Amino acid sequence: MQHTICNTVSEIDIGLHTGQRIRICLQPADIGCGVLFQRTDLSNASPIPALYNHVIDTKLSTVLGEKGRLENRISTIEHLMAALYGCGIDNILILIDGPEIPIFDGSSSFFVSLLEHTGRKQQNAPRKIIKVLEPVCIKQGDFFVKLLPNPHSGLSLSLSINFAARAVGQQTYHIDLTSDTFKKELSFNRTFTFLEDIETLRQMGLAQGGSLENAIVIDDNRILNSHGLRTPDEFVRHKMLDVLGDLYLAGSPLEACFYGHCSGHTLNNQLLQKLFSCSTAWQKICTTDKHPPS
Ligand SMILES: [Zn+2]
Repeated sequence: MQHTICNTVSEIDIGLHTGQRIRICLQPADIGCGVLFQRTDLSNASPIPALYNHVIDTKLSTVLGEKGRLENRISTIEHLMAALYGCGIDNILILIDGPEIPIFDGSSSFFVSLLEHTGRKQQNAPRKIIKVLEPVCIKQGDFFVKLLPNPHSGLSLSLSINFAARAVGQQTYHIDLTSDTFKKELSFNRTFTFLEDIETLRQMGLAQGGSLENAIVIDDNRILNSHGLRTPDEFVRHKMLDVLGDLYLAGSPLEACFYGHCSGHTLNNQLLQKLFSCSTAWQKICTTDKHPPS
């Protein structure tokens, strides 16, 4: 069945790129609403559905926007979207009073805590699933992302990354997604950045809210965060968290196998664009809920 949250919850934290203090408020939403974002600091801003075809930028984060009204944009949605996917939330209204989802610790942990705090409420309508029927692939040099039909139910993901920095190097990860594996294996992995890139980002007016409290900072073979990593392969797990958040812009959970090498928000979005441009590659089905009520 479809699910929303039990009650309204809100919290304040800074935006990674703007450095602004931003309030995020999660509210229950009706059957069939999906995930909807609404800016409260702009007059007459239209709500923006969390769908792949409302993405307006993918360079540093996934950004949703209202076409024709550039200031109505919401960036860095991916860690929240991953939490909504992992926690099995179908319908929710997200109000924010700034242009960016607050970063908290750079992972999905805080959003999972908020969702668990308010609780998950079952609604009287079956859940819709997008079943991938044919392979779909996007390549860019050696980098690729693809979706294949899953002989089993649900979503499984396999990802590899390869960075020159010795603290990262080559990492691979695989997960069969459930609410349990999401919480125990993916949700807590933080975003990361390289020391040499920080000054450039700051000069561009970006990463103004970035700190060791909300990102792993890498200097070749060194991790600058005093407590180190949460898991030795935290980098590839975070990239997979980003994939999951981006894939939830399909509008429904997927029944598919995802494979990727050095994926990013741009490739992830192009993958959904390509999937939905081919009507024989997917099918929307109703299914029974795979997440036990919490
Ligand atoms: Zn991320």
